[in-house]
Amino acid sequence: MSSQSQQLYSQLPAIDRLLRHDAITPYVTQYGQTLISDLLRQMQAEARDAIKHQEQLPAWSQDWPKELQHRLDKQQQSALRPVLNLTGTVLHTNLGRALLAQPAVDAVVQAMQCNVTLEYDLQGAGRGHRDRAVADLLCQLTGAEDACIVNNNAAAVLLMLAAVAAGQQVVVSRGELVEIGGAFRIPDVMRQAGCQLIEVGTTNRTHLADYRTAVAEQTALLMKVHTSNYRIEGFTAAVDETELAALGRELGVITATDLGSGSLIDMTQYGLPAEPMPQRLIAAGIDLVTFSGDKLLGGPQVGIIVGKKALIARLQQHPLKRALRVGKITLAALEATLRLYQQPELLQQQLPTLRQLTRAPEQMQQLAQQLQQQLEPQFGDRFVLAGEACWSQIGSGSLPADRLPSHALTFTPRDGRGATLMALTQQWHQLARPVIGRIADGKLWLDLRCLESAEQLLEALKG
Ligand SMILES: *Cc1c(COP(=O)(O)O)cnc(C)c1O
Repeated sequence: MSSQSQQLYSQLPAIDRLLRHDAITPYVTQYGQTLISDLLRQMQAEARDAIKHQEQLPAWSQDWPKELQHRLDKQQQSALRPVLNLTGTVLHTNLGRALLAQPAVDAVVQAMQCNVTLEYDLQGAGRGHRDRAVADLLCQLTGAEDACIVNNNAAAVLLMLAAVAAGQQVVVSRGELVEIGGAFRIPDVMRQAGCQLIEVGTTNRTHLADYRTAVAEQTALLMKVHTSNYRIEGFTAAVDETELAALGRELGVITATDLGSGSLIDMTQYGLPAEPMPQRLIAAGIDLVTFSGDKLLGGPQVGIIVGKKALIARLQQHPLKRALRVGKITLAALEATLRLYQQPELLQQQLPTLRQLTRAPEQMQQLAQQLQQQLEPQFGDRFVLAGEACWSQIGSGSLPADRLPSHALTFTPRDGRGATLMALTQQWHQLARPVIGRIADGKLWLDLRCLESAEQLLEALKG
C-alpha cells in the first residue's frame, strides 16, 4: 500500500466519533442509532473503496454530516411520491388513476384507525358479508339484485369467468377480443379462468345469428367486452346488449359484459363523450356486469360486479373470491364514493375526477397566462413560455380519439435542442414533488387541467 493511501485511510473518522459529532447526534435522536450507524458504515466502506481504487477520498468526505443528511433524505423519500400530473391524461394508470373525494379520504382515515363492522352484524351479532353495505348501495344505483367487490376489474372478469364458466365455453365476438394496457388480454384471462373461448363473427361484423349458432351443450356464457380503447369504423355490425340478453334467456345461457370504465351517470350531460352505464345494461337484462372503481367512477381501485342474486352468490362462494377480496380501507373509500352518487347535483363539485374532466378551458387559459408571467423571469432566458390550446385525454382505456379541449403552458427551448428539453424534464422529475408534463412538437407541455391552482405549481418548482 502506498504511503499516500495509508495517509488517506488514517484520515477516515471512526464511526464512534461520528456518532458523537454535534451535527450528527440530532439525527441519532430522530432516527435511532441503528439506522444512522448503518448509513455511516456504508459511507465509510465507500470511502475505503475510493482510496483503494482511486487513491483519493470521495468529494463528499469534506462534510460527513451533510452527506449523511443527503442520504437520509433520499432513503426516507417514499417510493410512492406525490406528483403533479400535468400530462393531460386525467385517469393516468401509471400515476394512480382517480383522486378520491374528501368524504372518501375521511372514511379511509377512520377505517385505518378503528375497528369496523367489516364482517360483523350488530343486529344478529353473527358474521356478515363484507361487501354487504356497498352491495346495497350499488343495487340502489344500478337496479341490480346484488354485487360483489374484488381487487380490480381484471380480477372481476377472472372471478366471474371462473365462477360461472370454468370447464365450459364462453362465446365472444372477434371484434371484442381486446387487450387493455398491462397485459390484460381477454383470451388469456379466459384460459386462466379455465374457460374455452369460442370466437364468433369477424373483426368488423358480428350478428345475433353468430352467437345463436355457437351455443352448444357446453356453452356457459355469452360475453360482451366494451371495446373502450379502439373503435372499428366503416362496414361494421355488433349485437347490442338487449338482443344478447334476450337470446341468453331464450337459450338458457348466462350473459355478461365487461364494461371496463363504466359510468353511473350520463357523461353527455356534462358535454363529455358518452360512456356506457352499468344500470342500462342491467335494465337491458344482462345477468352480470363488471367495471372498475378507479376509472370514471372516481373511487378506489376495485372491480365491481353487479347482477343477478343467484349468480353473485356463486361468485361470493368461489375460493378465488377469498384471494381477490378487498380490505376495509378500500371498502370504506368505495362506500363513501358511492354515497356521493346519491346526490348527483353535488357530484361535479365533490368528485375530483368529474371536476377535472369538466373544467372550463377559459379557466385553464387564465391559469396559463398567470403562470407564464410568474415563471418567465426564471425560465425566459432559456425557453419561450406560452399559453397554448391543447387536448386532454380521459385515460384508462377510454378512446384516445375522445379528446377534451384544454390549455397548456408550453416551454420551447430557445436553442431548439431536444437535449435542453430533456434536461428540463429530468430536472422537474427530481423535484420533491415531481412535475410531469409531456413532450410534443419540440416543446414541453404542461396541461393545466389537473392543476388545482397556480400556487400548486409554483410551490412544486421551488424544490
Ligand atoms: C380497464 C379495463 C379492464 C381492466 O380493469 P382494471 O380495473 O384496470 O383491472 C378490463 N376490461 C376493460 C374493457 C377495461 O377497459
